[in-house]
Amino acid sequence: MIVGLVKEIKNHEYRVGLTPNDVKAYVEAGNQVIVETMAGEGSGFSNMEYLAAGAEILNSAAEVWDKAEMIVKVKEPIESEYKYLKKDQILYTYLHLAADRPLTEALLAAGTKAVAYETITGKNGGLPCLIPMSEIAGRMAVQEGAKYLEKPFGGRGMLLSGVPGVEKANVVIIGGGGVGTNACKIAVGMGANVTILDVSAQRLAYLDDIFGSRIQTLYSTRANILASIEKADLVIGAVLLPGRKTPKLVLKDDLKLMKKGAVIVDVAVDQGGCIETTHATTHQDPVFEVDGVVHYCVANMPGAVSRTSTMALTNTTLANGLALANKGFEEAVKADACLAQGVNCYQGKVTYPGVAEALNLPY
Ligand code: NAD
Repeated sequence: MIVGLVKEIKNHEYRVGLTPNDVKAYVEAGNQVIVETMAGEGSGFSNMEYLAAGAEILNSAAEVWDKAEMIVKVKEPIESEYKYLKKDQILYTYLHLAADRPLTEALLAAGTKAVAYETITGKNGGLPCLIPMSEIAGRMAVQEGAKYLEKPFGGRGMLLSGVPGVEKANVVIIGGGGVGTNACKIAVGMGANVTILDVSAQRLAYLDDIFGSRIQTLYSTRANILASIEKADLVIGAVLLPGRKTPKLVLKDDLKLMKKGAVIVDVAVDQGGCIETTHATTHQDPVFEVDGVVHYCVANMPGAVSRTSTMALTNTTLANGLALANKGFEEAVKADACLAQGVNCYQGKVTYPGVAEALNLPY
C-alpha cells in the first residue's frame, strides 16, 4: 500500500504521525511510504532520517494526499485540508468527530475510510491511544507546578522536596486515574508530601497498594477537598467522568482558603476543568492568577514535549496502522474487533454510534 505522512498544520501542533523507525517497519512489510518534506521537524526527525528509513520525500502536502492510499496523521484534518479528502482513502488519526460536524460531513461527502485513534479499544478494554497522553500530562503537571511555585514565575517560592531541616511542599491531586497516578509518581519521586483524592474506592486501594505509606489517599468529599487545598502548595486537577461534564470541585470562594502563591494545574481543562476559576490557556501564555493563586490550564499539555509525545503515541498506533496497510482496510477491520471500534466513517456513512448520536446522523 502507498502510505502517506503529512506535516501537522493545526496551530502549535508539533507531533507527527510516524517516526522514521515506524516508516522502516512499513517499508520492510512491503509498503511504500511518502513523506511531506519537513513533516517530522517539530518532533526532531529530519528528512534524512525518513529517507534512510526508506521513505520518499515529496515537496507538498497536496502531492502526499493525492498519491497515498492511506494517510497517517496526529490531529483531525482542519478546514484547509478538507479539499484533500478522497473516496476510499484510509485516514488514520485522532478525529474527535462527535464535537466536529463540519469534518464529519466532509469525510462522509468524500467517502473516506476514517479510523479514529481515540475510539480504538484495547484487548482488555480501555482506549489505548488516549493512555499515553494522560501519562504525559500527569507527569508534566508536577514539572509545571514545580516551576510555577518558583518566585520569579509568580509562585510562593517553594521547592517541592524541601531540603534537610526544611518542610516539603504539599501536593494535592484530585482524581487518581491515568493523569493522577502519573502525577503522583513524579511528585513522590521529587520528594513532596502527596495527598490523592478519588471517589473510586477501588482506585484508592490500587494507589495505596502501589505507593504504600509514601502517600495519603482520601475519599473525595467536599470536606476532604477543602481541608486538603487549605494546606496545599500545589493542587492538580485530574478528574474525569467519561461522557459527562467535569464537576467543579474547587469553587472560586474556596481559593480564599488557599495559601497566596500556591499553584493549581487543572489538567482536566480539556473537559471544562474541575476548578471553577479554570479557563483554557496556551503554551504561549500558560498561567493566570485568581485571588493570589497561580492557575496553569493548558489544554494540550503533551504538545510541549512533542518528541516524547510523538514516540508515545506512535507506540500505540503502529500495530494497527501496519495491519491496515499490510492486509488492506476491510480484511484488517474484519480480523480485529478492537480496530473495528476505531472505524468512524465508511462509504459515506457514520459507523460509530457515539458520533451518530452526538450529531444526530443516521447510523
Ligand atoms: P481517568 O478516567 O483515568 O481518571 C479520572 C479519575 O477521576 C477516575 O479515577 C475517577 O474515579 C476520578 N473522579 C471522578 N469523579 C471524581 C471526584 N468527584 N473527585 C475525585 N476524583 C474523581 O482520566 P485521566 O486519563 O486521568 O484524565 C483526567 C483528565 O485529564 C481528563 O479530563 C482528560 O481529558 C484530561 N487530560 C488533559 C490533558 C491536557 O493536556 N490538559 C492531557 C491528557 C488528559
